Amino acid sequence: DPRNGLLVYILDPIKYAPNVVITYNERVVLIRDAFPKATVHLLLLPRDPDKRDMHPRDALNDLEFLGMVKTEAAEALELAASELSRQLGPYSESCKERVAAMESDEIPDELPPGRDFAKEFKIGIHAHPSMHHLHVHIISRDMHSDRLKHQKHYNSFNTDFFIPLEDFPLAENDVRRNTSYQNGNLKKEYKCWRCGKLFGNKFQQLKAHLEEEFLAWRKI
Ligand code: 5GP
Ligand code: ZN
Repeated sequence: DPRNGLLVYILDPIKYAPNVVITYNERVVLIRDAFPKATVHLLLLPRDPDKRDMHPRDALNDLEFLGMVKTEAAEALELAASELSRQLGPYSESCKERVAAMESDEIPDELPPGRDFAKEFKIGIHAHPSMHHLHVHIISRDMHSDRLKHQKHYNSFNTDFFIPLEDFPLAENDVRRNTSYQNGNLKKEYKCWRCGKLFGNKFQQLKAHLEEEFLAWRKI
């Protein structure tokens, strides 16, 4: 079953390092998504055999486990941010300013801060994942990718279908637990992640707009 495809990385991470597996320890494995939907798209896979087969909503209700996942996700975010920095740094005005200050003859006492790439990420799960084993998405916000080909690819990251890790544990009456509400999210009209502009169901127009937003966003 292709839905079990993430299990191999949990069971034998060393075999898939360094191409797919970026890092691992006894608790988690951090991998690259094979079909990235943004410039940087990683998956954090908890290894606990009692938790990895559970629905994320249930697994993440265990506060001790949730704490562990949040701690590991914070570390993974640092790696993701440095990966994004490598990719966008050469285009980023704030990075250029900082580098110029560092290389100037009179280095200022306070360097320009540069860009905080960690702020450009979303960390969370899909309300109804397609892959069976528990995985937390760590994805840059840009949605700029050749792999972004379907309505679900966009809306699953840009509506309430995407549930931020920081929102766990979910309250009993949280609307995001509701299946029909979530199916509705996937069919919503497209809304730009950056400026909020609506695109109805016009996927090609959305894609063209995402390209423009990407070029502006990487310049910051
Ligand atoms: P879900 O919708 O289940 O939350 O997302 C599952 C993610 O796993 C998707 O983003 C998909 O691209 C990724 N994926 C699916 N199969 C594989 C695989 O075999 N290897 C890797 N590295 N990622 C995969
Ligand atoms: Zn926009």
